[in-house]
Amino acid sequence: MTAVAVQLPVGFAGAQADEWARPRSFPRAEELSRAVDVLPGVGPAVKKRLQHLGLETVGDLVDYAPRDYQRPLAETPIAALRPEEETAIAGTVRSATLRKARRRLTILKAIVEDDSGGITATWFNQPWLEGKLSSGTRVRLRGSLRRGEFNVKSYDIGDGEATADYAAIYPASEEITAKKLRELVGAALPASAVDPLPAGLKQTDSLPSRIDALWALHRPRSLGEAETGRRRLAFDELLLLQVGLAVRRREHEAEVAPALDPPGELVARYRDVLPFRLTEHQEKAIAEIDADLQRTAPMQRLLQGDVGSGKTVVALYALLRAVEVGRQGALMAPTETLAEQHFLTLDEPCRELGVSCALLTSSSPKRERELAPSADIVVGTHALIQEGVQLDNLAVAVVDEQHRFGVEQRQALTEGRSPHVLHMTATPIPRTLALTVYGNLAVSEIAKPPADRKPIITAQVTEDRSAAAYSRLRRHLDDGRQAYVVCPLIEESETSQARAAEAEAERLQRAELKGYRVGLLHGRLRPAERRDLMARFKAHELDVLVATTVIEVGVDVPNATIMIVQEADRFGLAQLHQLRGRVGRGAEQSYCLLISRAREELTDSAIERLDALVRTTDGFELAEVDLDIRGGGHLLGTRQSGLGDLKFAHLRRDRPLLERARALADGLVDVEGPLHDEVERFFAGRDLSAG
Ligand code: ADP
Ligand code: MG
Repeated sequence: MTAVAVQLPVGFAGAQADEWARPRSFPRAEELSRAVDVLPGVGPAVKKRLQHLGLETVGDLVDYAPRDYQRPLAETPIAALRPEEETAIAGTVRSATLRKARRRLTILKAIVEDDSGGITATWFNQPWLEGKLSSGTRVRLRGSLRRGEFNVKSYDIGDGEATADYAAIYPASEEITAKKLRELVGAALPASAVDPLPAGLKQTDSLPSRIDALWALHRPRSLGEAETGRRRLAFDELLLLQVGLAVRRREHEAEVAPALDPPGELVARYRDVLPFRLTEHQEKAIAEIDADLQRTAPMQRLLQGDVGSGKTVVALYALLRAVEVGRQGALMAPTETLAEQHFLTLDEPCRELGVSCALLTSSSPKRERELAPSADIVVGTHALIQEGVQLDNLAVAVVDEQHRFGVEQRQALTEGRSPHVLHMTATPIPRTLALTVYGNLAVSEIAKPPADRKPIITAQVTEDRSAAAYSRLRRHLDDGRQAYVVCPLIEESETSQARAAEAEAERLQRAELKGYRVGLLHGRLRPAERRDLMARFKAHELDVLVATTVIEVGVDVPNATIMIVQEADRFGLAQLHQLRGRVGRGAEQSYCLLISRAREELTDSAIERLDALVRTTDGFELAEVDLDIRGGGHLLGTRQSGLGDLKFAHLRRDRPLLERARALADGLVDVEGPLHDEVERFFAGRDLSAG
């Protein structure tokens, strides 16, 4: 790690205030919670675009971390440009023309001249600039010379400072540019901010004040300054998280769960009805769970393992341990679809064992809902079980988190009941990190899937070669196998997602999949329709399942041996890995074809994601890659859980900060003041002081 923990120079804030006149309009902390449209230049349209980036309040903008900064660059005369070297040019526009090259690719070319000569400057996918580049307009451009043209990376038209040295570059979208974001963040930055850190701590740890850190983050004069600012903000986040977890740890110390007798007759029969032997990893996880269950301290265990590694089999074991002593087990899933899928998996072995298993979702008929709470095993959504369905006899709860780890859900579930809790996640978190971030959670891992699986072969296919991907898929179908086609991810409502999937399924049925039996699975199907569809696919009455991401988990059809993911670059790494786990579930060799735009058009992180998937099928390794790309903030919780993602901290790089925060946390639990307030805000205002 580099030595960036230096104190900012005395007068840092003052010096900066000279350079960047701080606006006076938003001086107080409560201003930060106002909606973005109080800022100049934000109308309903911009507000909506900001919303898509998760930016709803002025404070969200203030906390919007730059992805990078412009490096200092000397300007180069156009005649002296050299290939592939990033530089800046300044000149006057002579003419501009726009060309639509392909679906989703437009190329804008402008002739730009300075005293030394002229060149064609090229922008990709920014058609709206055409109108601004009229002849005679002054521009400053950053970019590099490629094949005789100047590829523009950032630009200033007329006045502006997007190409200035160390200008912040924000994660932008197709709807809103990094440049616009820069202006808005500038307008949102306050002149002062509440500082939650005790003064003594800032001193000993050489941390700048919060307001200086914010200015350094958004308007640095050097990369070192930017990093010093970021580190301070990252430290705040990690400290809030650790203090919050310390508070929770205290609460849990007082809780008591029923100590269960050693494994008995029911789980012995369960082992007998399983059509296979448990793997060594499964046995180890079961032994760890057994050890937890015989204690009165509630089990808080994370069971991690790749998709298809056999976690559900272990989870059912834990639930049956409750049933065999006359208590209840509950399995909570994040969505209704998942709850149903889990129910389908559990129901069969439960029947064989004479154990009653009930599904409880908001679309269950009233009567079922009334009866469900008295079943031996209840499967339902997190939401429903949280909303106060009384499971009076609950002894073991399995919480299926899938991608995310919701601390809040754990809290809600255990409130007043204190069952033993087993969390399942198919997005493994590197083990040491799991321990550091999740406090006292014990971890069991199923590091290897059952032996007879062949690793899935994954390949990247560019859009223009998608026909070849589909002919491969048809070969599988002709051999009597089945397939999945995953529709592009659109970040709108489930309804528009469903509509798009419907259109795509119809198109495929007429074109690439003509003559095959195609089913469509999306989140808007009614539960009965969905169940029926899944049953038909399982019974091979359908050849292909065209689906949205709802097939991500739970679907288990070993005869499905090939998957095509359309526009794979739009999906997250963990999500793609999950999707891919739908194939490779039998003994046959399976394939996953990731269709995406041409490499040049992809972002660096999209390339990294796709490459990683091709390289490995090991979820633990992919977790490390994901952590590198995304910093790990996403591991902490969902929006619904009320715990925001980390914005500044990078769990891997900031490991020393994390450990420092952890070391300080217990000592800060009882400190009143702004830190405590912030902890509460960070944990969405839940009452953390109990106990
Ligand atoms: P996960 O929940 O981790 O995705 P599952 O428990 O659903 O995995 O198991 C995936 C598939 O592997 C299921 O079809 C299951 O029956 C099968 N399976 C689980 N454990 C074993 C095992 N030890 N040997 C063979 N097959 C297994
Ligand atoms: Mg499963």
